[in-house]
Amino acid sequence: MDFTYDPENIFAKILRGEIPNDTVYENDHALAFRDINPQAPVHVLVIPKGPYVSLDHFAAEAAPEEQLGFMAAVAEVCRGEAVANGFRALSNTRRDGVQEVPHFHLHIIGGRPLGRMLSPA
Ligand code: AMP
Repeated sequence: MDFTYDPENIFAKILRGEIPNDTVYENDHALAFRDINPQAPVHVLVIPKGPYVSLDHFAAEAAPEEQLGFMAAVAEVCRGEAVANGFRALSNTRRDGVQEVPHFHLHIIGGRPLGRMLSPA
């Protein structure tokens, strides 16, 4: 698998402070911010601060402290947002997953009933 990272992707620019974001939570290893085009009342993106292109890249190569920091950010987002009735966490990956931004991000989506996970192809 080619996990080549493009440092000019928009989330890398957010991490460098070159473009603004609506931050929900931040720690040493992860940043959580509101999606600019929310699909539900809660739509937060959690990203690692390291240069990982996708979930499988992050899972395979991120250091344990990066993975723990990332999951701690997920926990904080879920604790702080209105998702007591549930939510969906998803990570679009590469072409078939219709990934637009090549920096790993986990969508946390909730605040309304979300329907079934996938519509028929
Ligand atoms: P995908 O890579 O398919 O998971 O989609 C990328 C997501 O990033 C979309 O939901 C966009 O609305 C979101 N997005 C793109 N640019 C920004 C930005 N500058 N701030 C926040 N969210 C963004």
